Amino acid sequence: MTAALTGPEALPLAEATGKLFLAVRRGLPLTLACGAFLAAALHPEGRGWWLLLGTAALALTWPSLLRGPAYGRQPSAISRQDALWANALRPVARSLGLEDAWIDSFCAYNNRRVRATFQRRRAKKALILLPHCIQLAKCKAPILEDLQTCYDCGLCPVGDYLEASLLNRWEGRITNRSHKAYREARDYRPDLIVAVACGDRLLKGITRLPEVPSYVIHLALPHGMCVDTDFPVPHLLEAMEALVEPRRPPSDVQPLRRGGAA
Ligand code: SF4
Repeated sequence: MTAALTGPEALPLAEATGKLFLAVRRGLPLTLACGAFLAAALHPEGRGWWLLLGTAALALTWPSLLRGPAYGRQPSAISRQDALWANALRPVARSLGLEDAWIDSFCAYNNRRVRATFQRRRAKKALILLPHCIQLAKCKAPILEDLQTCYDCGLCPVGDYLEASLLNRWEGRITNRSHKAYREARDYRPDLIVAVACGDRLLKGITRLPEVPSYVIHLALPHGMCVDTDFPVPHLLEAMEALVEPRRPPSDVQPLRRGGAA
């Protein structure tokens, strides 16, 4: 079931983008800085102010250049700034009909940085956050109370996730409210979050939990928001294998395979 992967660079190429967000996040302040320094050269009378503006614009650009350990040392401050850009320009993207593309690009940019951060030193204490809407709506298994009540009937991704989490001894939470997921994350104090949600919730999650690097995976919404959603469990497996120290399972741990149906 698991793919043979060796490191963060092996994660799906679709996640290795984020050019739209990066072009705006880095391009806008850089352009402003260039314009200000040019103005300083051309207008001696207001040179001090132009230089000040140019320097401030360069300072805004700087966090977007930090990668790997440099980001890992101060993820909170950097993520806060990036989330500020993503949220501030979201209405502009919406007015241009690019809201989904904007959020997707921000998430991809974020994932690229998280991959670079854990390239040399994998996370030791990761937490998976999943939304309850991945459970088939008509399924009566009380997985919120006990995930192992899932019959693994194959009708939704919960069964595959349960099997993988038991085999690999992952720490994960399925919640039906965002604030519960945030509380679980703060209580557990992970060094990496791997979160599955729709784009809107992923952006909010990164905004609300800037102190923890979060690798994010988009939900598929074949039946609309919050109903019978889906996500690629192999992508989650790949992310966990690439970013997190394996927790070698004892040989006697086997996934539960139950008879039954939803
Ligand atoms: S029993 Fe089937 S439908 Fe219910 S949560 Fe498990 S896999 Fe999904």
